[in-house]
Amino acid sequence: MKSDRRILIAGGGLLGRLLAWRLSAGGHAEVTLLEKGSLDQPVAAAWTAAGMLAPLSELADCDAGIYELGLDSLAIWPDWISELERDSGQTIDFNQRGSLLVAHPQDYHLLRQFESKVRFKGADNRAVKRVDRGGIQALEPDLAQNINSGLFLTEEAALHSRQVLNALLKVLRNRGVTCLEHREVERCLPGRVCLSAGETLEADWVIDTRGTGASRELSGLRGVRGEVMLVESAEVRFQRPVRLMHPRYQLYVVPRPGNQLLIGATEIESEDYSPVSLRSSLELSSALYALNPSLGEARILESHSNCRPAMADNQPLLQAESGLLRINGLYRHGFLIAPAMVNRALAALAGTDSAVLAKATQGEIHHA
Ligand SMILES: Cc1cc2nc3c(=O)[nH]c(=O)nc-3n(C[C@H](O)[C@H](O)[C@H](O)COP(=O)(O)OP(=O)(O)OC[C@H]3O[C@@H](n4cnc5c(N)ncnc54)[C@H](O)[C@@H]3O)c2cc1C
Repeated sequence: MKSDRRILIAGGGLLGRLLAWRLSAGGHAEVTLLEKGSLDQPVAAAWTAAGMLAPLSELADCDAGIYELGLDSLAIWPDWISELERDSGQTIDFNQRGSLLVAHPQDYHLLRQFESKVRFKGADNRAVKRVDRGGIQALEPDLAQNINSGLFLTEEAALHSRQVLNALLKVLRNRGVTCLEHREVERCLPGRVCLSAGETLEADWVIDTRGTGASRELSGLRGVRGEVMLVESAEVRFQRPVRLMHPRYQLYVVPRPGNQLLIGATEIESEDYSPVSLRSSLELSSALYALNPSLGEARILESHSNCRPAMADNQPLLQAESGLLRINGLYRHGFLIAPAMVNRALAALAGTDSAVLAKATQGEIHHA
């Protein structure tokens, strides 16, 4: 990329920060990040996200393209985390101990269904291991005694989403990237953004990473609501993300530092940003209680809802024309696939990957 490129990035969530970080490396571009809310306390979906990097768990409900993007990204995250920790001086909780999928005895058939589905869709057989009571005990000794069957997904990982966003912001500020908050971008055009305050800013490239905020310019873009609760338990510890298969929902529990557990399950087809409902909090709590009755004593620290940006076909979108690049629709696997998507976006910008650029100029790229 030419050293004097001016780049405006609309949206300071996951993709906006990652792109600003990669583009500002080595001072080869003059990058400005524009965020409609606060950068330190973002309203981004990424701020609510559980941070699971779970390609196999996603494969059960998605196509193999997401799985491939996830595997590509899983190979990139460890280096990016080390680089971010070094440059920000901040620690990022990054857990690469796999994840455990369990079910209550009456729901074991759901484990078998999951297993046959992911194997049929091309999962690496070595990454899916059946575990019995002894195996579960060795992996997660604090799981309830009546859980006797599970699947250990050895490739999966998790990161602390807020720590990643905080570290990215610190590095951007250290590098002198112009980070402007409370600037709402009304329109993204080739080489130009219009702010809602009436101002127009110009650049060589505009990158639109507004997530659900881009819906007026991207037809088919929608928000899919999710809800999470953060609890603290002095008695129950998990080493890795644990998912409980259930006929109505799949509960996930992600361990966080300080005896904390982030729990979530819901996926609601509605662009509704209102607080967590009583029904969801009851379902999340009772499913958590079933993993270990001692979790009944856990303390609820926070509850949050947010919307994942998704295209009509639930596929990620990368769209480029001269002077404007849009990247969106990372849906429920934004952290999982972000590194691969960011690298494809950078290739399209640099024009070095002519195949990507050619496809991008024709319209949507589905997992490039
Ligand atoms: C409950 C929940 C759990 C999740 N769990 C996981 C998980 O475990 N693993 C995983 O991989 N993914 C997960 N995700 C998905 C992941 O968070 C998203 O895919 C990802 O955040 C999308 O990144 P983004 O940058 O496109 O959007 P966002 O992170 O939402 O960022 C968009 C940014 O643009 C800003 N913006 C919007 N409109 C404007 C405007 N007009 N002008 C300027 N700025 C604007 C927003 O304020 C925001 O900061 C989860 C999401 C939710 C909601």
